Amino acid sequence: MSKQTRKKNKDLTKKIAEERILKLFELAEMNHEIHPERAQRYVTLARLISMRYNVRLEREQKRKICQHCYAYLIPGKNCRVRMKNGFVLTTCFECGGQRRIPYYLK
Ligand SMILES: [Zn+2]
Repeated sequence: MSKQTRKKNKDLTKKIAEERILKLFELAEMNHEIHPERAQRYVTLARLISMRYNVRLEREQKRKICQHCYAYLIPGKNCRVRMKNGFVLTTCFECGGQRRIPYYLK
């Protein structure tokens, strides 16, 4: 296999991985109300795919997963979202962990 094809294949693999992650997050979004355990499974799989293929999760995707226990976070259900001192403070009810994301006012 030539070097170029190998490069191409690698790009393709990453692209497929990204698509699968996107799909899994969509599924989690659709299912979390009726089947929270399935939503959890979907985001766990998405995380595993991202690690396996060295693909980063998108910003929005990352914010939907608890940094500490990897729970799928749904504001008003298993996490609390508050504004505090220029940060968006997300508290996970599963593990009690917090995450601060700075926000900037223009
Ligand atoms: Zn947590």
